[in-house]
Amino acid sequence: MNNLPIFKYQPKAYDVGVFKKVPAQNCSICNKETDYIYTGPFYSIDEVDNVCPWCIYEGTVTKQYNGVLQAAVEYKDKLLSVTYDDESNEYLYFIGYDEVEPFQDDKLEELLFRTPGYISWQEPQWLSHCDEFCAYIGYVNKSELSAMKIDLRDEELFAIKENYGIDTLDQVSEDSGIHLFQCLTFGQHRIHIDHT
Ligand SMILES: [Zn+2]
Ligand SMILES: [Zn+2]
Repeated sequence: MNNLPIFKYQPKAYDVGVFKKVPAQNCSICNKETDYIYTGPFYSIDEVDNVCPWCIYEGTVTKQYNGVLQAAVEYKDKLLSVTYDDESNEYLYFIGYDEVEPFQDDKLEELLFRTPGYISWQEPQWLSHCDEFCAYIGYVNKSELSAMKIDLRDEELFAIKENYGIDTLDQVSEDSGIHLFQCLTFGQHRIHIDHT
């Protein structure tokens, strides 16, 4: 595990199922030998297989395939998505359904193009807090979440009510998955509920 990159927004990347441990093989991009290949989301026109963690970390994959690693991210309190347009040969940025000018933002760039996504049933959304993207902690069910005894702040309970129409976590159905995030600044937890 020594020679593996650590991702700021995906600190547990090797435990959450987006990299698969494999018998040593060569990365399809850098051709270096790797024990892990990326199996998380990747949005591009061409399919890409057998990519090592370093090619995710350094942005080589997204650059070479004009891809994006995240479906949607919370950015400036809005839901932002980015797709590559092969007619204009550039990335298009959307807030909701409206196209906007591309944002020049190092943190956004790191999340979209150099951070492994996460696996979910529905479209993944990357949450933010304190004007910064959160770290992805993992996928839990309701009982696992309550066993973690995480205190969600009132503001988060309010956001959950807004987004999912439920008043307490007790109302989350047993077969929903919960994606847990944590603020990198103060450690507050946020959740994204995924319906199976
Ligand atoms: Zn590689
Ligand atoms: Zn925060």
